[in-house]
Amino acid sequence: MDEIQRRFAERLTERGIELRDSEKQLEQFETYYRLLVEWNEKMNLTGITEREQVYEKHFYDSLTVAQISGFGDASSMADIGSGAGFPSIPLKIVFPHLQVVIVDALAKRIRFLEEVVSRLGLSDVLCIHGRAEEVARKLEHRDRYDIVTARAVARLAVLNEFCLPFVRTGGRFIAMKGSDIEQELEESRYSMQKLNASLQEVLRFQLPGEGSERHLIVIAKSNPTPKAYPRKPGTPLKEPLL
Ligand code: SAM
Repeated sequence: MDEIQRRFAERLTERGIELRDSEKQLEQFETYYRLLVEWNEKMNLTGITEREQVYEKHFYDSLTVAQISGFGDASSMADIGSGAGFPSIPLKIVFPHLQVVIVDALAKRIRFLEEVVSRLGLSDVLCIHGRAEEVARKLEHRDRYDIVTARAVARLAVLNEFCLPFVRTGGRFIAMKGSDIEQELEESRYSMQKLNASLQEVLRFQLPGEGSERHLIVIAKSNPTPKAYPRKPGTPLKEPLL
């Protein structure tokens, strides 16, 4: 374990997140890091490639989702617009019991994620190439997952329509956001109401190294998503539920 990994593990412990099989898990993070940098030369996966930054801004940031109350009880999650695998792959490494479904509209990112899943020896991870609006209409993914996440995909009013249809009744959607969330939160109220959901909690924290602000917006679903949603691909973005 080198200094960067030691600090990474220590900071997770400070947030109450334990690496139960730390040798194996740190090795998986390191393999993931190497694959990310290697594939990033051939395709656009991330603007962040410096090792310490990747550990903080991608790996640590992804794992903060585990701080929401009752995360430990979740057995399934869907990550919408996962890109290079954030937050789902770090969460799967640390919580190997999770059944994970990843949805992304870009085929080459899905190919990268399939390689990551295979090289890290992760089981029970399904990578789906498709738009959230289409995948959420398939019965096997609709009203189904305990936790649904999205980081850096769209504004909250749009994300609600992309993500809430995947959440089971009683489950939660967690939107990972940076600073200045008030306006976005305010304008998302109508979409929550339309989609049978409500704001449960907002967790605010700072990344430990450079101190930038982050928010986890936790939205609870109380009833199945009405049949009309999500609307056809492109519509949630063009005509958000405002
Ligand atoms: N979540 C990752 C992260 O935080 O690094 C990736 C963020 S990237 C900026 C946004 C991703 O969302 C892209 O990979 C894009 O293909 C995907 N995306 C955007 N709209 C989508 C949609 N309607 N359905 C599925 N994926 C979508």
